[in-house]
Amino acid sequence: MQETVFTYGAPQLKFGPGASDEIGYDLSQSGAKRVLVVTDAGVAATGHPQRVADQMAEFGIEAVVYDGSRVEPTDASLQAAVDHARETGPWDAFVAVGGGSAIDTAKAVDLLCTNPGDLIDYVNAPVGGGRSPAHPLAPLVAVPTTTGTGSESTTVCVLDVLAQQVKSGISHPRLRPTMAVVDPRLTMTQPAGVTAAAGMDILCHALESWTARPYTSYPRKQPEERVPYCGANPIADMWAEKSLRLLATSFRQAVKNGDDEDARTQMSLAATFAGMGFGNAGVHIPHANAYPVAGRVRDFRPEGYPDDHAMVPHGMAVALTAPEAFRFTFDADPERHVRAAELLAPGSDRPDDLREYLPGVLADLMRDIGIPNGLGAVGYAESDVPALAEGTLKQQRLLATAPKDVTEDDATAILTRSLELW
Ligand SMILES: [Zn+2]
Repeated sequence: MQETVFTYGAPQLKFGPGASDEIGYDLSQSGAKRVLVVTDAGVAATGHPQRVADQMAEFGIEAVVYDGSRVEPTDASLQAAVDHARETGPWDAFVAVGGGSAIDTAKAVDLLCTNPGDLIDYVNAPVGGGRSPAHPLAPLVAVPTTTGTGSESTTVCVLDVLAQQVKSGISHPRLRPTMAVVDPRLTMTQPAGVTAAAGMDILCHALESWTARPYTSYPRKQPEERVPYCGANPIADMWAEKSLRLLATSFRQAVKNGDDEDARTQMSLAATFAGMGFGNAGVHIPHANAYPVAGRVRDFRPEGYPDDHAMVPHGMAVALTAPEAFRFTFDADPERHVRAAELLAPGSDRPDDLREYLPGVLADLMRDIGIPNGLGAVGYAESDVPALAEGTLKQQRLLATAPKDVTEDDATAILTRSLELW
């Protein structure tokens, strides 16, 4: 029997310039007395986390900053954060200030301060034990300082499991933050390169959830089998569409002029909307490709990011195969692909072959905002494709949301054609 039910979940939301000044008030209303502020060293240097902590003190809350989150968390970095929180606790609530990495770290900390056992017990099977938290978590307020990741809206914590050399996650509805506080002023210091990469992540969240396999195409689930990512559905569609419209008018401007508070606010709104969509519908091929593309990096160092280690930032890793991925998924629903291109580039000329429309619009945008020209430009060659394809096929949880089945040949073709995009 085919599925007839979809689900929708989202955190409470406070949005707008100045929103982060109200966290102390909000938490004091829940009776919190001791709060751990989780961030990373880079974000701590901007002063935002300490400002949030100081502001909570005015409401009689003892707030302590922990800046040991790692950008791209590992099981080891999460364990260190958990050990710190368990030793210095108990904590009534957690506040995460930073990008997806800080927010994901706070999710793991909250989980293991409120539930027994070890981190690996809760990691998705087969990498970990796939255990579900037995108790509710403490309130978690997520304050994103990077526009894009959407982690403030999702039920997932992503981590590298070092011993098994694999990226995996912890996924459970209880991990969704209680409240997302999105304050565009906190994103004003983002360098242009970060705005470009993180913006492509927003764009791909919207496009992938918009083109995801429809929820009605799955077999009917039992209540205990329901998953956070249920496929494209009318409510996620609405957020994705609106996000694409906002990106069409603000993305190039936010990269070109980072001081434009209006463009920053529109980008923050686009990120929030996309998060509310993909946090329920799911993402697919570009995100599945992004895991090996980021994971197998050799020596690429992107502009705007710390240069102490090689990396392909998440949003860039997602973007590099997006044009080819959407060329591949076109036949699943041509109308949706055309509509997405029209939303992103209103008034643009339609090519004769409509399959080329969305890939063309994406390539134009990526060239304009300084995203590298394909996987070749971040250090990959044709000889790397088999290993990358193998990594893509390991992401079956994401590929299950793709609107077409993805074989090894399909993944190989998408990755090969993504070596150079224009
Ligand atoms: Zn993403």
